[in-house]
Amino acid sequence: MTTTRDSSKDQLNKEVANTILQTKEPPVARFRLLSKGMEPYHRLYIEDSQTDITGDKGCLGCGNCVDSCPVLRKDSKRFEKTQQRTSFALESCVGEDCEQCYSCVLACPQVDTSYKDYIVDEVVPETIQPAPKITSLDNYFMALIALVMGIVIGVFLAR
Ligand code: SF4
Ligand code: SF4
Repeated sequence: MTTTRDSSKDQLNKEVANTILQTKEPPVARFRLLSKGMEPYHRLYIEDSQTDITGDKGCLGCGNCVDSCPVLRKDSKRFEKTQQRTSFALESCVGEDCEQCYSCVLACPQVDTSYKDYIVDEVVPETIQPAPKITSLDNYFMALIALVMGIVIGVFLAR
């Protein structure tokens, strides 16, 4: 049995991935379906002469996506809808309130590493706003505040 990942089989459908990522709904199930599914090197791969589960893209019900979702963390009442811990449960509890953080995709063992790499390396950096640069005007105000503070402390100590 193969026990290591064969990255040569990784294929990235960026067009479909981008469409999913731009949709305000939990993306994990669709990324599962875009991925290769169960591989012989996976720990959960069951060797059975009757059944070949290679390529099975089904949800494992591990609940990783549910646990990683900030929408559910902020509002635990949403869990009252279902006891299940599947991508379907995530979709039912979050729906269009998805904040498009993509944590669920990164947490899912059934999503290919190539898609996770794409999200972390190319998609997330584009959404992070650069820190505002300190301008000379900011420095001027800071100097003014320091001067006023110095005068106040000086007056206080002189009394
Ligand atoms: S983890 Fe993030 S991307 Fe996934 S459903 Fe929750 S808010 Fe949406
Ligand atoms: S993280 Fe687990 S529960 Fe969520 S979609 Fe993936 S396999 Fe299913």
